[in-house]
Amino acid sequence: MTVPPAVSAKTSTRPRLFTPGPVEIPVRILRALSQVPPHHRTEIFRAAYRKVSEDLKWLHETQGEVLMLAASGTGAMEACVVNLMAPGEKALVVVGGKFGERWASLCKAYGVPYEAITVEWGHAVAPAEIDAALAADPAITTVFAQQSETSTATFYDIEGFAKVTRARGRRLVVDAITGVGVHPLPQDAWGVDVVVTGSQKGLMSPPGIATVSLAPWVLEAIEGQKLPRFYFDLRKARKGLPEGESAFTPAVSLVFAVGEALDMMKEEGLAQVHRRHARLGAAVRAGAQAIGFTLFSKSPANSVTALLPPAGVDAGAVVKRLRVTHGIVVAGGQDHMKGKMLRIGHMGSYDLSDIYVVLGALEECVGALGAPATGAIDAARRAWEAA
Ligand SMILES: *Cc1c(COP(=O)(O)O)cnc(C)c1O
Repeated sequence: MTVPPAVSAKTSTRPRLFTPGPVEIPVRILRALSQVPPHHRTEIFRAAYRKVSEDLKWLHETQGEVLMLAASGTGAMEACVVNLMAPGEKALVVVGGKFGERWASLCKAYGVPYEAITVEWGHAVAPAEIDAALAADPAITTVFAQQSETSTATFYDIEGFAKVTRARGRRLVVDAITGVGVHPLPQDAWGVDVVVTGSQKGLMSPPGIATVSLAPWVLEAIEGQKLPRFYFDLRKARKGLPEGESAFTPAVSLVFAVGEALDMMKEEGLAQVHRRHARLGAAVRAGAQAIGFTLFSKSPANSVTALLPPAGVDAGAVVKRLRVTHGIVVAGGQDHMKGKMLRIGHMGSYDLSDIYVVLGALEECVGALGAPATGAIDAARRAWEAA
């Protein structure tokens, strides 16, 4: 008889994504992706394009227009800067992490003068701080912020920001790439001028489509002399939209994926989608804290949770063990938080059972890495029920 091979420590048969984008893709969306893509200048595609664009308006709760771009999320951010800012206009950027820095980098790249409100990572910005910055500088026309700063898993009060920008007659542009489909953001009701998303986050699809949602009152703001623009010229994207025509070749397969994602959200109901994410966030936070992790953010988002490991446990070792032993992919920290924290994504199609999976694995990891603890799953279930 041959000696059986040593039993591997590995517990999983497939990788599972718990990253804050790209996220796990539901089977329904994979199926939508697997059809032969139709040509984009055909009625079958035009009808799909029109429907997705209408459903995106439903998602954003706007009577304006939602434009789709073949780009990652940053493309939509760039589109906002070049289509809204005229030469000489000044911006205010909220910088509390990597994605806030991206607004600043975009302004820099296009020579847009800007002020920055810089906050310590993991901290939110009070609307009053925005108000003070706007009061101090009448040259600022536009505020750029995130709803959920993914690098620090921090949630910002966009409703509060919008009250301030509206009262002062300035524009508010929100990168809600890990906000939309997770947290409420009723664009027209709150008075948010522009909202940006990307397909690989709350929209549960592969990367490749970025959207720009223009509130009805801001549609005219992209006309006239602005910064140099060509591929991301939103006037081109708007032009053929009523007929289902895109300016350039769209990401055809992804349009069907995003369409399926929107169907799923409509079936679940938007309020329920938001509630489920609130419960997922509460469950992860409670479960992780029960086994010795500390929350990094003082204002935690429901899309992603940033955790500092228990004393004596190395965050990088947890990330690695989750991947190697359990097949679970989470993100680490960025920049100065590299190797110091882990970020667990839970936006999109996740449910409480998924949270049990990641917390069960996390419990095994802290045990193996020298800080044994139990009770994560129990705490998560209780938090889910209470939220
Ligand atoms: C993912 C993400 C982006 C976009 O990143 P891309 O890699 O360009 O898709 C922008 N902002 C936030 C908050 C994000 O989470």
